[in-house]
Amino acid sequence: MTDLTNSLLQRRGFLGRLAAAAGAGFALVGCGTSAPAGNAGAAPAAAGKKFRWRLVMVVPKTFKIWGDGILEFADKVRVMSGGRLNIDVYGAGELVPPLEVFDAVKQGQVELGHSASYYWRGKIPGAEYFTSVPFGLNADGMLSWLYSGEGLALWEELYAPHGIKPIPCGNTGVQMGGWFRKEIKSIEDFRGLKMRMPGVGGEVIAKAGAKPVLIPGNEIFPHLETGVIDAAEWIGPYHDYLLGLPKVANYYYSAGWHEPGSMLELLVNLEAWNSLPEDLQLIVRNCAIATSSKMFASWLHMDAVYYEKLKQEGKTIFKEFPPEVTHQLHLYADEVLKEVAGKSPIAAKIHASFKAFQQSYEAYQELSERAYVRAQKA
Ligand code: CA
Repeated sequence: MTDLTNSLLQRRGFLGRLAAAAGAGFALVGCGTSAPAGNAGAAPAAAGKKFRWRLVMVVPKTFKIWGDGILEFADKVRVMSGGRLNIDVYGAGELVPPLEVFDAVKQGQVELGHSASYYWRGKIPGAEYFTSVPFGLNADGMLSWLYSGEGLALWEELYAPHGIKPIPCGNTGVQMGGWFRKEIKSIEDFRGLKMRMPGVGGEVIAKAGAKPVLIPGNEIFPHLETGVIDAAEWIGPYHDYLLGLPKVANYYYSAGWHEPGSMLELLVNLEAWNSLPEDLQLIVRNCAIATSSKMFASWLHMDAVYYEKLKQEGKTIFKEFPPEVTHQLHLYADEVLKEVAGKSPIAAKIHASFKAFQQSYEAYQELSERAYVRAQKA
């Protein structure tokens, strides 16, 4: 037996054990929820079958980091499955409009979607918690709540009535607080401010008297340039630069209190999922984890590179919101999240789990990560 054969056999044995262990893990995650158990429907008879699936995105395929990540995800799945699972990726609008991605997966028009759960908060209260909520968990905390806390099981429970299985896939890290044409000195400066800020963040600034404006990314530049809006949040230095935002506003604020760790999602049609043999399910789930890590790494890196670029260009004024401003926004955010929790029993359950997890997680972060940051600056 050659060394190569030996190592291949060992690898197969390892993968088999890994598949068995992950299968058991998934059953545990599904336990106690109304979500259909992930592996119960896996079809061993389909082991040699080839699958051709379609994935629709809420952003174009050319979207830096995000589009790149999903194309790479599809490629990884194809290679790791030995060509048994082939995924054709469609950017926003190619097959379905971006805001119809969820319904396309739900109705089985396509097997997969890639988006952010907070887009669906209008029809599914509680969905926002699985992307990011104002003053909520950062990217590490989201990962921890989803995979080690109750997060993923709750997310599966939330989407189960829609016949969709969610899988975390991508994270932007903490975003920036946005571009402003004038300085923010007090909470009063939000009064009458027309700001592009979707989702829960928009409801928070509305409580401060601002007028949140909902426009897609590609419309931010012209709206800010012509003064139709006074301020806008998008993502972070890299993508904001690509949109041209530094050319139309001078003040760039942190922190992105409204999106402290935005998690992206892979949506899987449950019936399609249950038709997959167990090894292909495992490949999909693990490729999503790998893609998630890589997208997060790219976001952290490219935002740092473009922050440096903005500093060198010398036009942008970097500011942090004054503490009294963030304090007041935090109080408004608490009010808005309580309103979300009041919308349905499952939203209340998600809210309670998230808040309890955050309290415990952050108490330890204070002792560990934040102590380290303080030590670095000492
Ligand atoms: Ca954003």
